[in-house]
Amino acid sequence: MIRATSVFVSEPGDRSVLQVRDHDLPDPAEGEVQVEVAAAGVNFIDVYKRQGVYPVPTPFVLGEEGAGTVTAVGPGVGDVAVGDRVAWCQASGSESTVVNKPARLVVPVPDGVDLEVAAAAMLQGLTAHYLVTSTYAVKPGDVALVHAAAGGVGQLLVQMVTARGGVVVATAGSDEKLDIAKSLGAQHLINYSTVDDLAGAVRRAAGRGVDVAYDGVGKSTFDASLASLRPRGMMVLFGGASGQVPPFDIQRLNSGGSLFLTRPTLAHYVAEREEYEWRAGEVLGAVADGSLKIDVGGRYPLTEAATAYEALEGRRTTGKLILVPTA
Ligand code: NDP
Repeated sequence: MIRATSVFVSEPGDRSVLQVRDHDLPDPAEGEVQVEVAAAGVNFIDVYKRQGVYPVPTPFVLGEEGAGTVTAVGPGVGDVAVGDRVAWCQASGSESTVVNKPARLVVPVPDGVDLEVAAAAMLQGLTAHYLVTSTYAVKPGDVALVHAAAGGVGQLLVQMVTARGGVVVATAGSDEKLDIAKSLGAQHLINYSTVDDLAGAVRRAAGRGVDVAYDGVGKSTFDASLASLRPRGMMVLFGGASGQVPPFDIQRLNSGGSLFLTRPTLAHYVAEREEYEWRAGEVLGAVADGSLKIDVGGRYPLTEAATAYEALEGRRTTGKLILVPTA
């Protein structure tokens, strides 16, 4: 048994329900590893869980991803050893100084990749990876609409679509954010805070309807995303940073041009260990060889978790925010 410090959600609500406090952490159980956390990633899913949009029994420790060094292993763990540098996602309770995680959820961090960068790359990196390889497999010449293109997932989508030979129409809420998207390879830039007809702007920029719309903004962009698609295009609604999309008349897929609509979640694209290892290996490998740029846009001590979420929810961030044990 050791002591840990963690970010707890005491009850569903706004950021005032976040509490940073010490607690006992038992030795790792069968199949678990204990990890000293170097950094935990800040994600929008934490907001949904804190708010109760995704119900979780309280109190619970926030945070779905992180990276660190293994300090102990439980019975039955054969392929992870003390001293290994590991990262994970899809594992709740990561915003902590030390955690116990199932060994099957940790992956090795390649030499040369900083642990803070690895923590920043996992959840959003694997998300962008499944979106461009599996949900809609981008081909050379495809045109993809990427909303919030300077955000965490957005920056990675821009890079991955471009790396696969696709053309990105990027949107963001400010010209400064669009500059970031442009620097990562986006060819067409739209400030959606300043246009009245977003779908029209997308179609004019692309010269036609887009093949796929990657939409993690949700409520405020969904209609325009759908109206931006070519016939038989794919609408990928993967989040609701602006709010959840209300119930939907399925006939709109018909009138829009035999469209496809999916609402994917990372969990279903990494459920099998083999697939998880493949995606994590490609993402962390690309970070290691420099072909995927991870922008850590903010680094906060655990004790300032609420400030980090205030920035994320307030649209004042670019790239990825991480929480570290000390300042
Ligand atoms: P981001 O870093 O992209 O931050 C969200 C961005 O959304 C903001 O910076 C802002 O960019 C834009 N936005 C537009 N309207 C609002 C609003 N009203 N409130 C807040 N933000 C707004 O976050 P993440 O990269 O962590 O997540 C992006 C999306 O991806 C989220 O919806 C998240 O839930 C989803 N996601 C889904 C996963 C899945 O598997 N389905 C996995 C991981 C993330 P701007 O100012 O440019 O508009």
